[in-house]
Amino acid sequence: MAGTESQINPFETAKQQVDIVADLIGLDGGLRDVLKHPKRELTVNFPVRMDDGTYRVYTGHRVQYNMARGPCKGGIRYHPQVTLDEVRALAAWMTWKCAVVNIPYGGAKGGVICDPKHMSKGELERMTRRYASEISAFIGPEMDIPAPDVYTDSQTMAWIMDTYSMQKGYSVPGVVTGKPISLGGSEGRGEATGRGCAYVIREASKHAGVHVKNGTVAVQGFGNAGSVAANILYDEQGAKIVAISDSKGGIYRADGMNPHAVEAHKAKTGSVVGFPGAKAISNEEILETKADILIPAALENQITAKNAGKIQAKIVAEAANGPTLPAADTVLYEKKITVLPDILANAGGVTVSYFEWAQDIQGFYWTLDEVNQRLERVMVRSYDAVHKVATERHVHNRTAAYVLAIQRVVDAVKLRGIYP
Ligand code: GLU
Repeated sequence: MAGTESQINPFETAKQQVDIVADLIGLDGGLRDVLKHPKRELTVNFPVRMDDGTYRVYTGHRVQYNMARGPCKGGIRYHPQVTLDEVRALAAWMTWKCAVVNIPYGGAKGGVICDPKHMSKGELERMTRRYASEISAFIGPEMDIPAPDVYTDSQTMAWIMDTYSMQKGYSVPGVVTGKPISLGGSEGRGEATGRGCAYVIREASKHAGVHVKNGTVAVQGFGNAGSVAANILYDEQGAKIVAISDSKGGIYRADGMNPHAVEAHKAKTGSVVGFPGAKAISNEEILETKADILIPAALENQITAKNAGKIQAKIVAEAANGPTLPAADTVLYEKKITVLPDILANAGGVTVSYFEWAQDIQGFYWTLDEVNQRLERVMVRSYDAVHKVATERHVHNRTAAYVLAIQRVVDAVKLRGIYP
């Protein structure tokens, strides 16, 4: 949750976003309450043996927000600033995200409070396996399917899949997605979040008066989502990447940079900072950089009422979850900036997670081309649906995406009825 406004509680933001749309579609109080409460939450405290022989107790959460539309789905985050309320917000956003792209899932999220950058691979493995074991009664291919998120990756998923499978006594590849391909992962899953984001940017540019070819792009956060989005915009759509940042700082070059070269520099030095030929800028400045397209791809609470007025981009594509506060949405809308909200812009990841789960269950695997074509269809269809609602109702894209998502979840809740 580190950011310019890290004291803001993301779950308050998530509930506010529900209220805005509930008012708009005239949702009654009882259903509104259902949407503002996580269904189930599990907190686990567990010891891990560190490399120096000492034990350390870690705290982790798994929140299952809503499963009206199908099994819960969502990543696991490793970060020192994880809180239960952050995980609740992320689980709510997963619920709406799966509904916007219309894949048959509810939403969940997990998080462990830890500092993975200062842990050895062995410590990370032991922590991951113990956390997986602690939440194992709570997850499963039909109940809740974790995936990677901030500072977790395909190796983390391999450990979770193995731990769960050892407990069952047989291999259960469908318990997690984002696995290595050799363990039942899907082609294209690794780059799906960034690729999906690049597809919706391409679609939105047609309505936003932006040319992606030779258009300028600033990317805040150069992890999986941000770096892949930059690479694809550069390689496939001819965009000029002028600014990039990571948790240590940012770089700017008016003539543009080759994002693959920046990636190589980061792999070597641990940061984008110091990339030859670029000037240093801060993580706050990158948001206000002069660029056609801004991609917040880091953490929550970055675009606030304070800095929204200074944003110069024509398109803001949220590869991160929750980077924009509701008060900032209004400012961006008044400035006629096209916001591609997180639950649409970064939904490519969970979409290919769905493909992976479907492949695992059938034991029948697809080619990269098949995956990417299906992903493109889902992203284009979802963008079109959001854009249509935004135009018809004269609301910004986030509200439009929430209208679609919440209506789908409410339909499922109503059709199923309230038990008993
Ligand atoms: N962590 C990703 C997200 O926030 C992916 C979740 C998934 O694939 O289940 O959308």
